[in-house]
Amino acid sequence: MNAPDSPSEDPTIPPTNGDAEPWIDLTSDHHFMGEALRQAVRAYQVEEVPVGCVIVRKGRIIARAFNQVETLRDATAHAEMLAISQAQQAVGDWRLTDCTLYVTKEPCPMCAGASVHVRFQRVVFGAPDAKGGAAGGAMNLLQFPTLNHRCEVTPGVREPECRQIIRSFFQEQRARRDKESAESTDSPTAPSGSDETSDPAIN
Ligand SMILES: [Zn+2]
Repeated sequence: MNAPDSPSEDPTIPPTNGDAEPWIDLTSDHHFMGEALRQAVRAYQVEEVPVGCVIVRKGRIIARAFNQVETLRDATAHAEMLAISQAQQAVGDWRLTDCTLYVTKEPCPMCAGASVHVRFQRVVFGAPDAKGGAAGGAMNLLQFPTLNHRCEVTPGVREPECRQIIRSFFQEQRARRDKESAESTDSPTAPSGSDETSDPAIN
């Protein structure tokens, strides 16, 4: 028997997902911040301050980067700066007007300034930075009245995760420094092989 009035076509019944995987919105801020977090993990793995970012255009990631200040010995090698260069190459223009930046930590003044220069439509960040953040934390360069471009700002996306990875990093660094200084006072031949600088460029 045919059932022309199938109940599944009743618009009052919400569509079900059956046994399929949980539905993930691949265009959501949550999703793209997850990708930025993956970049932050990569920074963590190479002992860089764990900040990661992605740049999204028309629902697609066109650039991914993580902080590489120590690796490149370059104070401008913040995740955002590296990703901006990639994105400009991908687009073939210095203007990134229809792009969104997702970054795990509130951008610093340098990166916020660059975000205005490239005219990001939107900047989405995770962990706020009350001392050095330039997206409303310590100052707001992304929406500075006299500059010629203002970005929309979405703060606090996946904030606990973004905050935790930075916190873990600094806790680990401190523990290691304490251990090393204790060892160096115990024995005149301290283990070599670590040339970490004391204060990271981002905090
Ligand atoms: Zn920065």
